[in-house]
Amino acid sequence: MNYAKSRIWTELDFEKDGKQVGYLHLPHSVDRSGAGTIAIPCAVFRNGAGPSSLLMAGNHGDEYEGQVALTRLIRDLEADDIKGRIIVVPAINLPAAMAGTRISPIDDRNLNRCFPGNPNGTPTEQIAYYVEAVLAPMCESWLDLHSGGASMAFMPYAQIILSRDEALNKRALAALEAFGAPLSLIQGFSDEPNMSNSAAVRNNVIHFGTEAGGSGTVNPDGVKLAYDGTLRSLVHLGHLSPRNRRIPIPPAPKKVRWIEIASRDYYVYAPQAGLFEPMVKLGDTVKKGQLYGHVHFVDDPMRLPAEVKFKASGLVVCMRHPGRCERGDCLGHLATDIKR
Ligand SMILES: [Zn+2]
Repeated sequence: MNYAKSRIWTELDFEKDGKQVGYLHLPHSVDRSGAGTIAIPCAVFRNGAGPSSLLMAGNHGDEYEGQVALTRLIRDLEADDIKGRIIVVPAINLPAAMAGTRISPIDDRNLNRCFPGNPNGTPTEQIAYYVEAVLAPMCESWLDLHSGGASMAFMPYAQIILSRDEALNKRALAALEAFGAPLSLIQGFSDEPNMSNSAAVRNNVIHFGTEAGGSGTVNPDGVKLAYDGTLRSLVHLGHLSPRNRRIPIPPAPKKVRWIEIASRDYYVYAPQAGLFEPMVKLGDTVKKGQLYGHVHFVDDPMRLPAEVKFKASGLVVCMRHPGRCERGDCLGHLATDIKR
């Protein structure tokens, strides 16, 4: 595709061998700094010819596990360790990451609903555009590390979202297998055009990632999954040798549980505004019709709580974290096992 020029500039040279740690500069003129930029951290590792991969976290600013894993990777990795090129952006929507919020506090935009972005749009739209029009076209693979953020808690898992491109699906599935999460999800029904997975498909790039924890905290199991899985992926993608001397590659789990979210019926939404008290825990297996919890009306003590039931059977892989909910808020979702 031919893209218009992005306004984001960088001193990084994506073609140069070696390890460079610098910034992507997004022009941002504000009271404090009339000619200023938002400096988004970025590392480029290059060692000769070979594959190119984009490793990204902080697509949502309050999803911390991937941000921790990729900043650690930048410190741990040297260009001599690898083949080809690895571009690492640990906090791509930096204003959101610094604020600890899902969406950017500057323009109230959700980066993962902004693709393909706009070269002259708001800061978040410009970031989306830079990723889609500059970074993705340089790569064959894109790892996008997500988590539950402030409003959700996930059993940490890795995932792909299937597209209509069977060849890409096959390659993405191989990357997901190599990532080696004990719980791995193949999502088959989303083709939201404004999300990063669609941006990857438009660039003929495979896309895989995680939901590595959440609850507005840093889940250590999620950080470990993100870090170890990233290293195993780098081996699979041809960047790292499994016999390299410096970076030990963590062994993949012996058993992987493969899951999917088969339809909207596996999601549970709040029927009323109130205070949600769950009756199950993350990781529980539940049955269709089972009570998920009650929405309480604490300002009206004699009013009976509203019952919330599951519309399907499955494994509770995601639960809402805050107690208060509005009608329509997602209270969590289930997944079911698939044969592989
Ligand atoms: Zn996310």
